[in-house]
Amino acid sequence: MSITTEIKVPYTNFPQLIAQVRPELHEAFDAVITSGRYILGPHLAQFEKEVSEFIGVGHALGFSNGTAALHVALQQMKIGAGDEVITAPNSFLASASSVALAGAEPRFADVGDDMNMDPAALEAAITPRTRAIIPVHLTGRPARMPEIMAIARKHNLLVLEDCAQAIGARRDGRMVGTWGEASAFSLHPLKNLFTFGDSGLLVTNDPELHRRLWMARSHGMSTRDVCDFWSDNNRMDELHAAFLLVHLKKLKQWTEERRSLALRYNDALRGLVKVPDEGAGEYHVYQTYMIRTDRRDQLQDFLRGKGIEALTHYRIPIHMQPAARSLGYKPDDFPAAKKLSETILSLPLYPGLTEEKQEYVQSSIRDFFRA
Ligand SMILES: *Cc1c(COP(=O)(O)O)cnc(C)c1O
Repeated sequence: MSITTEIKVPYTNFPQLIAQVRPELHEAFDAVITSGRYILGPHLAQFEKEVSEFIGVGHALGFSNGTAALHVALQQMKIGAGDEVITAPNSFLASASSVALAGAEPRFADVGDDMNMDPAALEAAITPRTRAIIPVHLTGRPARMPEIMAIARKHNLLVLEDCAQAIGARRDGRMVGTWGEASAFSLHPLKNLFTFGDSGLLVTNDPELHRRLWMARSHGMSTRDVCDFWSDNNRMDELHAAFLLVHLKKLKQWTEERRSLALRYNDALRGLVKVPDEGAGEYHVYQTYMIRTDRRDQLQDFLRGKGIEALTHYRIPIHMQPAARSLGYKPDDFPAAKKLSETILSLPLYPGLTEEKQEYVQSSIRDFFRA
């Protein structure tokens, strides 16, 4: 006999969220399918215009997914064989695989208490072969960009921000995605701005880089007849752009809702577990609401028994992945990232999560620590 627990608080609730914009999504769908323009059409152009204004950058390009955006950016920044690119070891693996896909070698710098790249560790990881840095704004919390940019300038390195989890996040009022030479975003269903499938975004203030990225996204073609260089097909579909235009209008409201839920969790759980308190000047967008406790696995099992879905992002740091074996790292090379992988737990947090459900998560966590 199998015992199944009814899910009382799921990790996400798309039907509830979509209910807020269902008529607009249906209209968008109709507009695209009757237009006859499914690739590189007016919805994509409009989305690129609106999202570049939202972020505050000169140029935005819709991509097929965030990983492709990262790897095409590296290629067009002329990073490849023999080059090293430094990123964070506790990220989603695409922060590093994109470097390998561009033909360069991913290297890592350990993270600080904010779970983001530690500038001192970054500087220590620079070698004569280092060409670029990929800082990650993990969980939606802005990385320490002013210090990272100062190190990049001092050592003449390029910066590609991995903003996959952080659209709308700010440090000292400045949006993530506006510091680096280029910045990549993911619009995957689990990201704060999302569509119903895979999509990504690449932004830059550099018109010359934008021109090359624009060609690289679509076969390296400069006109419909001329191919300037070999490249892959990594375009965002017109349908996704139309859905994203609808969701972009809700992003501010959805982000504020995420922030209120996070602050409520913080107040309820502080003292029981380590909560993600914001540092000075930080505007965190909580793509993930991540707590830390030495009893992570027991707590996760306990919550599962209560019908609460809590997840781990990520259980194996990138430097410990089988795919990274040839890089020659040992598990203890990045003690902060390793410790995080053993103690982090992501709680359900999504726009529309009711106070009642959140209180149930909070009281269940209190029960666990009381027992
Ligand atoms: C989601 C994510 C990516 C990859 O984006 P996809 O759209 O899934 O390819 C890259 N980096 C980070 C930090 C992510 O969270």
